[in-house]
Amino acid sequence: MREAIYSGDIRAVVFDADDTLWDCQSHFESVQDRYGRLLSSYGLAPECVGESLFTTECRNMPLLGFGVKAFTISLIENACAMTHGTISGSDIKEIIDMGRSLLTFEVRPFAGICDTLSWLSRIDGVRVALFTKGELLDQQSKLARSGLSGYFDVVDIVSDKTPQAVLSLCQRMNVEPCRTLVVGNSFKSDVLPAIEAGAKAAYVPSQYLWQYESAEEFEHPEVRTYRSVAEIFGMTY
Ligand SMILES: [Mg+2]
Repeated sequence: MREAIYSGDIRAVVFDADDTLWDCQSHFESVQDRYGRLLSSYGLAPECVGESLFTTECRNMPLLGFGVKAFTISLIENACAMTHGTISGSDIKEIIDMGRSLLTFEVRPFAGICDTLSWLSRIDGVRVALFTKGELLDQQSKLARSGLSGYFDVVDIVSDKTPQAVLSLCQRMNVEPCRTLVVGNSFKSDVLPAIEAGAKAAYVPSQYLWQYESAEEFEHPEVRTYRSVAEIFGMTY
């Protein structure tokens, strides 16, 4: 591990899952494209549909949280509202099927992930954790489909990633936050909670980012940016 780049010894590496270990957001985006095309038959412009859907998702978040079920309810609710209740039952069924497809897509780890996790999991004294937010069953299912389960000492699925959730995970692993490296694709959901908890962060921006996850980025002594997860550990792919 390239410890020299950080100010202390790393004793735990905590990985975000979606869009850090495997692609997820592109599947949501392709559903949104299909949804936009479906609603265009009701005379609605795709840009307006996207904007209105995002507003609906944000409004539902405090009650429904993150994940596919919340997203699917928002898709239906927004379609009913935008079509003033005229959407057909068969189109509602199609929207439900779009949401359902997000529970079963093939989970393919990005290049270099398997080798990196395999290498890390064999280092004595370094705990490897998966830390993700969303629905328990869906996140567990994606992890199982990814084939990566065996590399993690700890799997922590939370309703939201807060600094307190990072601290609780560090306590669970019995590792100080300052000796914990959090790896993720979202500055808002991975990097910020990590540094607020006193951990270090490796930021690996993803090709696709959910609008909700966009945040103002800034420089911080405990944050480094990488092009891939493998690059953090000096591996090239
Ligand atoms: Mg992510």
